[in-house]
Amino acid sequence: MNKLIIEARINEYAGREHNPHVPWSPEEIAETATHCREAGASVVHFHARADDGSPAHDVALYADIIQRIKALSDILIHPTLGAFTHDGDTAARIQPILELAVDPQTCPHFAPLDMGSVNIDAYDSATKTFRSDEAVYINTTKTLLHFAEQLSTTTVRPYASLWNVGFTRQFLAFIESGAIAEPAYASLIMTGDDLPAAHPGTDQGLDAHTAFIPKERNIHWTAMNHGGDLLPLLPKIISEGGHISIGLGDWAYIDTIPYVSTPTNADIVNHTATLARSMGREVATPSEAATLLGLD
Ligand code: ZN
Repeated sequence: MNKLIIEARINEYAGREHNPHVPWSPEEIAETATHCREAGASVVHFHARADDGSPAHDVALYADIIQRIKALSDILIHPTLGAFTHDGDTAARIQPILELAVDPQTCPHFAPLDMGSVNIDAYDSATKTFRSDEAVYINTTKTLLHFAEQLSTTTVRPYASLWNVGFTRQFLAFIESGAIAEPAYASLIMTGDDLPAAHPGTDQGLDAHTAFIPKERNIHWTAMNHGGDLLPLLPKIISEGGHISIGLGDWAYIDTIPYVSTPTNADIVNHTATLARSMGREVATPSEAATLLGLD
């Protein structure tokens, strides 16, 4: 079986009210990436944040963060596109990545392509009400083809985010048509109760995803649970040959890991790596992950 690629999903747009170890500043993000690398992560996914933690989209800020990460370790870098929070022309969302790709000091290794559109309204399962009712994450086929085509002119590889089986079918059509090359890397998205947009973070939610990943294709899948605890699924993912995307961006992981009540991202990565090794699956270094994913 392939070595396990652990991707540290270190911050997303998480606050610090549940776990204060969510990194926001460039220094904190770079330091966290390094600690996660030491703990066994080969990829880091981050969102740039302003001083107060709010979303930030300045290309110079992304450049600063990537330079800092590269100065400290060899971990593979996967920034966000800014997703739905980036105003304006959807096709323009790829532009910051293209600007970063020009300079080896700031060039990321992956850029996310969410392979479809989806309602992303937050649901409050405690009060049984929706917090919003018109939030749509729009990714038209034209936009996605534009992203894929633009990325193919750089060394940045597409990272396909699959929210449900319809997204997977679109992803497979992109591979079949040549818009995305193999080996392809895909994230199987599961979400907690407060975001009913993707598969639930359960055995069945994962099985429904993996059933549609064709074995004959050279596809590496990784699993994540945004707004939910991924730990119960780790043994299943490890034994099925998947990879793992986990971190404080998705869940605070309070009182879930042995000996540490309020874990850091690196603690979560370390727990994941230790579990994998105990199951006989070694963890990939960044250069081994790069080879598996065709970055070489
Ligand atoms: Zn993200």
